[in-house]
Amino acid sequence: MSEKALIKEVQELNSDIAIKVAVARGDGIGPEIMDATLRILEAAGSRVEPEFIELGEKVYLSGNTAGIEQSAWEAISRNKIILKAPITTPQGKGYKSLNVTLRKSLGLFANVRPVAGLHPYVHTHFPEMDVVIIRENEEDLYAGIEHRQTQDVVQCLKLITRPGCERIVRYAFEYAKAYGRKKVTCMLKDNIMKLTDGLFHRVFDEVAAEYPTIESEVQIIDIGSARLAAKPENYDVVVTSNLYGDIISDIAAEIGGSVGMAGSANIGKNVAMFEAIHGSAPDIAGKGIANPSGLINAAIMMLAHVGKSDIADKIKNAWLVTLEEGYHTADIYQEGVSKQKVGTQAFADAVISNL
Ligand code: NAD
Repeated sequence: MSEKALIKEVQELNSDIAIKVAVARGDGIGPEIMDATLRILEAAGSRVEPEFIELGEKVYLSGNTAGIEQSAWEAISRNKIILKAPITTPQGKGYKSLNVTLRKSLGLFANVRPVAGLHPYVHTHFPEMDVVIIRENEEDLYAGIEHRQTQDVVQCLKLITRPGCERIVRYAFEYAKAYGRKKVTCMLKDNIMKLTDGLFHRVFDEVAAEYPTIESEVQIIDIGSARLAAKPENYDVVVTSNLYGDIISDIAAEIGGSVGMAGSANIGKNVAMFEAIHGSAPDIAGKGIANPSGLINAAIMMLAHVGKSDIADKIKNAWLVTLEEGYHTADIYQEGVSKQKVGTQAFADAVISNL
């Protein structure tokens, strides 16, 4: 049997296998975009079987300070795959971010966030952009080491480790190799944080030397993010630490069309979690107008991760055709380009009709 025929047979076998996924419907727009996404997964014949888990605002408000039920941890360790809608974390007060807890407790070290321009169907000034931000996901200023020294003095420690740097940088180069990408750019601020970002830089140079066929460069994060915003087409894979990656991936998604469009994969050794990059968007929650594309793209990444690439491609194509046809949610609607402004569920219906 030829290699091509073998791959096709394995894909067909995989499509027939049911996969159990721990599904969190989230807060704010979460339940709306999750319902839309699950309907598409079902209609595409993905055989994803959701096991719903409780986490987020509702759990906190019930008095559980962890924000996640014990039964949810059990479902996660049984299923190993999570599809998660965004959850709300209060700003400047209140409970700790459950997103950070999940990423750290489950060892989800790599956060992969692809953004590609879909011009002319979705308006962007950057039709050629096609960038993947790979963000370290457990360390840095998000490690959760924050103290009050006095009433007026507080501190947050930036934690960077050599193994953490090595794992994420190697992941970025392996990703570039696997997906035929040509360049990895590292963004840091090691002119100021000479020890922490300096270590990341040194490890980047060491690992880059092992991949001579992939171009590598290092940019200081301030000019790097400015250039990414001005000329995103010059970037291919970007690897960076947790906080910088969080910021520049929102910038990339927004200039690519909308923060509502990008999905992400949080990859660990034993567990992987897939989610949109955006938050729970409380300003539009309950209105039925949110763009479900970020979560749809996360679900597509999830299907590829579990070996159901044919179903992933089928959904991706139907999603692209829907955008090409001009069925656009409010965030990407453009007079003269869009055909119809649609809500969350109507967008999902249009994707389903294109499957
Ligand atoms: P946000 O991403 O929720 O919203 C920013 C802006 O983008 C808002 O105007 C919103 O309406 C818009 N937007 C976001 N997603 C959209 C979509 N799918 N369709 C259309 N418009 C969309 O960021 P925020 O307002 O800073 O945060 C709100 C809450 O989300 C906070 O509690 C924050 O902690 C949380 N958050 C959660 C996650 C996560 O669960 N992974 C990620 C980021 C923020």
